[in-house]
Amino acid sequence: MLVVQKYGGTSVAGTERIRNVAERVRQSRHKGNKVVVILSAMAGETNRLVDLAKQVSKEPDGREYDQLVSTGEQVTIALLALTLQSMGVPARSFLGHQVRLLTDSSFSKARIKSIDAEIIHKELNKNTVVVIAGFQGTDPEGNITTLGRGGSDTTAVAIAAALKADACEIYTDVDGVYTADPRVCPEARLIPIITYEEMLELASSGAKVLQSRSVELAANYRVPVWVKSAFLPVKKNGSKGGGTLVTNRAMEEMVVSGIAHDRNEAKVAVRGLADRPGVAARLFAPLAKADINVDMIVQNISEDGYTDLTFTVSKIELPKALRIMHQQVRKIGAQKIEADEKIAKVSIVGVGMKSHAGVASRMFETLAREGVNIQMISTSEIKVSVVIREAEMEKAVRALHKAFGLGKK
Ligand code: ADP
Ligand code: ASP
Ligand code: MG
Repeated sequence: MLVVQKYGGTSVAGTERIRNVAERVRQSRHKGNKVVVILSAMAGETNRLVDLAKQVSKEPDGREYDQLVSTGEQVTIALLALTLQSMGVPARSFLGHQVRLLTDSSFSKARIKSIDAEIIHKELNKNTVVVIAGFQGTDPEGNITTLGRGGSDTTAVAIAAALKADACEIYTDVDGVYTADPRVCPEARLIPIITYEEMLELASSGAKVLQSRSVELAANYRVPVWVKSAFLPVKKNGSKGGGTLVTNRAMEEMVVSGIAHDRNEAKVAVRGLADRPGVAARLFAPLAKADINVDMIVQNISEDGYTDLTFTVSKIELPKALRIMHQQVRKIGAQKIEADEKIAKVSIVGVGMKSHAGVASRMFETLAREGVNIQMISTSEIKVSVVIREAEMEKAVRALHKAFGLGKK
């Protein structure tokens, strides 16, 4: 079998943990597998690099930012290759550009275009363990790009697809995907099998156990993805207990299968905006041009020809978004622009919503009982999201988890 294994930040935080990873890789290889390993930077390292950039620049240039924040992975891949070699296992590490992992030029959220599978197959055929840096690639001009926070998951799935691997295993600090973030909701339960569709909604709503693009790719290329613990004994992991399989079928159709939260968004409100055709386009077109993703949008009913428009963007992009808003408002006119970073988004996800009415209202009633005020709402076929005060997020997640019967049975 050809196996792609990805290990996240906590799993490679320090040489002792890297030795644990090497041991797992050795065991997989011992079973006769060809193994490709994708690694993140050590826990906290990417945050440290991001902070350094912020210390010297308010709005860092994209190219230099990626050049900097991609460096953490270079350290861990070389350390793992060295550790494997010292155990007598042939291993070689590669940066993104060394396996020609080509992306577009959208710095800090680049999309993968292609990977040279031949380079990797050639090494594997020599019986070498191939260790590849997650999170990074190169654009057509040879600039280093990164795939967005949590992007090593996407590297792993893309490489599994390119190699037509038999398995793609994401090893992390939890033993699978839970009904809510176990750090926030102690009652959360492990989901043994989940559809791509639901996992994609959970991931894009903030469940950071998998990067949403990795799920998108897995669904497109039909790559079954296992999420498992990097710390549990190998035998307890995997098909016979432990772990979550992300695939195109689920065990049972749940009305709500999980709850996700996201603290990484900020809210922008443009107040007293003249309500005429074309105003929304003039506000949002320059944001799109600057490559800023807008998530939720709410427009209030017009009063005396004026309206309020509220939307969310990621916190990192807030300064840039505000600069653009002020420029546009100077041209089209509005009373004021307000920003609020102390918000959180909470989402409930489940395919069963397609056929069950009243899910959203049960969510709103639950939040009302907890005294949580809803600031914004958005829905899709299998998801309802609300924006609330960040301070009330944990309480909201726990209450919803209980209300939808997800707790321990
Ligand atoms: P890694 O460094 O291995 O990539 P991450 O920190 O990116 O790990 O993702 C794992 C974390 O995701 C867990 O520690 C957990 O707190 C968080 N998480 C959020 N939602 C969920 C969920 N529904 N199930 C499991 N973990 C979740
Ligand atoms: N090291 C990167 C990050 O912290 C990529 C990853 O961990 O997947 O975002
Ligand atoms: Mg991650």
